[in-house]
Amino acid sequence: MSDHVLVINAGSSSLKYSVVDARNGESAASGLAERIGESQGRHIHRGPNGETATTRSIPSHEDALRGAIEAFESHGPSLDGLDLAAVGHRVVHGGSKFSASALIDDALVDAVTELVPLAPLHNPANLEGIRVARQLFPGLPQVAVFDTAFHQTLPPPAYTYAVPLRWRDDHGIRRYGFHGTSHAFVSRETARLLGRDPADVNVIVLHLGNGCSAAAVRGGRSVETSMGLTPLEGLVMGTRSGDVDPAIPAYLTRELGLSMDEIDHALNSASGLKGIAGENDFRELSQLRAQGDEHAGLAFDVYCHRIRKYVGAYYAVLETVDAVVFTAGVGEHSGEVRAASLNGLGRLGIAIDKDRNNAPSAGARRISTDDSEVAVFVVPTNEEWQIARETLGVVGN
Ligand code: ADP
Repeated sequence: MSDHVLVINAGSSSLKYSVVDARNGESAASGLAERIGESQGRHIHRGPNGETATTRSIPSHEDALRGAIEAFESHGPSLDGLDLAAVGHRVVHGGSKFSASALIDDALVDAVTELVPLAPLHNPANLEGIRVARQLFPGLPQVAVFDTAFHQTLPPPAYTYAVPLRWRDDHGIRRYGFHGTSHAFVSRETARLLGRDPADVNVIVLHLGNGCSAAAVRGGRSVETSMGLTPLEGLVMGTRSGDVDPAIPAYLTRELGLSMDEIDHALNSASGLKGIAGENDFRELSQLRAQGDEHAGLAFDVYCHRIRKYVGAYYAVLETVDAVVFTAGVGEHSGEVRAASLNGLGRLGIAIDKDRNNAPSAGARRISTDDSEVAVFVVPTNEEWQIARETLGVVGN
């Protein structure tokens, strides 16, 4: 059997797939079906012969996965030739039940179904991906890789909200954290770049994509992270507010008569960069800011101020910090964000080298000065590879 894993990330109206060699992270092929359930869907498949895009109706996730299998047949590479070892599924919420990736069986499906109230948008889609993949690949072991699992090492003071304790004990209201596969991958990669054992390294990871989260990783274990019960808490994101005064929803209900659903929607989908500047895509926001748009400038400043605040807080949590690492779309590409977030922190031993920070590069790199006590890195995240590695770890290859 090979080390190839079919990685599946099923969203509510999309299905991403990739065949990844778990040994080296190379992707033999990947694709994306989007606008599932709408009148017109789109399927992109990237294989050895380049990219093919088809536009057609994709009524269901099952249809999307069948379309992917057909694309492997007609555009390559052949799935038989790849000799898949397993299927690895991204699952967003594993609650307190899952502190590691796990083999999928009926009991696991039941457990993930029980967690739907904690992730009402994500877990049902992930479960649908699991259902159709089990149906279409009945001979392959399937593994669930949870976004929350890496953060199950948070100690009680970090994961307990200061609210009536029975909310936590009876209803699971506590901090879980997300982006765990990315934080795990990036913190481990950072130890490798430092030439040290992950067990000896303390790292602050800043995952800045559409969603954004920070994690404090001590000796390879997550001890603090910025997302909470849901991915809404913490840093400023594309459309999510991150931290707000928890009294705001009650105030809005009383004063403006907004319903809970309206407030929930506003905080998740109409806040963050979009809420301040009307634009959630960071590239567009940067252009507006460069043109002197006042709201874009404010959104940028609020975004970076929040990151800086978290770096300071996590520095105190870790006591000793070996590296600060930027990853995901914004973290990997925006030198301006990296500089604005960390400038002037020489007293904390953090000094970014301007030229290194601004040098265009897509690879993992150090952007701190040679004598910066704390190393600052940019490390491209690779969640598919991490999912493939964990999947293979579970099936015991
Ligand atoms: P996701 O969280 O969906 O995986 P990504 O990690 O791809 O998202 O990050 C998406 C964000 O990264 C978008 O806001 C996008 O504008 C931003 N981004 C991508 N490339 C660049 C770039 N070259 N410069 C600045 N921002 C970028």
